[in-house]
Amino acid sequence: MSSIATLGSHCALQVLKGAKDEGFKTILICEKKREKLYRRFRFIDEFVLVDSLNEVMDKRCSSILKENNAVIIPHGTLISQMNSTEIESIKTPIFGNKWILRWESDRNMKEKLMVESRLKIPRSLPSPSEINGLVIAKRHGAAGGKGYFLATSEEEYIKKRDKLIREGIVKGDSDLYLQEYALGVSAYLQYFYSELTGELEFFGVDRRYESDIDGLGRIPAQDQIDVDLIPSFNVIGNSPLVLRESLLEEVYAMGERFVDAAKRLVAPGMTGPFCLEGVYDENGKFTTFEFSARIVAGTNLYIDGSPYSALIYDEPMSMGRRIAREIKIAKNKNQLDKVVT
Ligand code: ATP
Repeated sequence: MSSIATLGSHCALQVLKGAKDEGFKTILICEKKREKLYRRFRFIDEFVLVDSLNEVMDKRCSSILKENNAVIIPHGTLISQMNSTEIESIKTPIFGNKWILRWESDRNMKEKLMVESRLKIPRSLPSPSEINGLVIAKRHGAAGGKGYFLATSEEEYIKKRDKLIREGIVKGDSDLYLQEYALGVSAYLQYFYSELTGELEFFGVDRRYESDIDGLGRIPAQDQIDVDLIPSFNVIGNSPLVLRESLLEEVYAMGERFVDAAKRLVAPGMTGPFCLEGVYDENGKFTTFEFSARIVAGTNLYIDGSPYSALIYDEPMSMGRRIAREIKIAKNKNQLDKVVT
């Protein structure tokens, strides 16, 4: 592998900056409408301009990437733009385990992997008729919180669902997954697992700022009641967090159980970056409502390293750079097959 490519969105800047720092040629698959933005950054060596990011599967893109001996770094945009079968059909080598991305996109497979990892997870509800308490209705795939809503009864669920159907945001019940709402302090735990060393690195924590739900907290309760709004959980940005040191032991234990479970269920396992997403309760117990089996955008915070990566590396180490470093080491050891699929 001599170059690193990714889609122009999500965490592309961090990924390609890290790749450049590790000595790779960098390639951006970029929609024409975003070219102006990305041209501002000199560490991007080559642009493959497309009308739609789905063209990454096409012959033209594949052959440019092949000529450049490139590996694609998958991120949230790849998952939200393409279905699992399309991702699996991409000819260019993909960093990590592309088969596990299907487990991220399908809510039922996702739940299975979390159960196998012995993570504490919120109960999922098979039908809206079982709602009795606060639940969140979520769309399948990485919708980034758009069109998600809360309900405490079946009637409220139906009312909100129908409004979103009218607005064209959801199609119907089959589009929605119901889960108990987990109350607590949200935390998105970022990890990197190296298949080459067998070591799990804890890389950082972030919180998300989500619209409209976080903005609602800024207005008084009476006004919240008066606004006719179904607040969504659409991510706008991320902010940093450090955890009480006493929580770290369990952070590693959860990450290790996830890596072990992935080895059993989805060969070759969880290679590279992943994220466990959830909330801490008042006893410091973590409930995981979601995982991402690839780099998350929350790592964009730590382009110069995080309070945790600084404990492992004596140089600024972003997640993007860590990925490039893994590819470089694998290449030098002739073990690329361990880090790409
Ligand atoms: P991504 O792929 O970007 O992680 P997603 O579309 O898969 O997003 P989730 O992370 O599952 O969506 O949910 C989006 C947001 O909804 C979360 O960041 C969180 O604020 C809230 N959320 C989801 N599930 C729960 C839950 N069970 N309890 C409390 N909050 C939740």
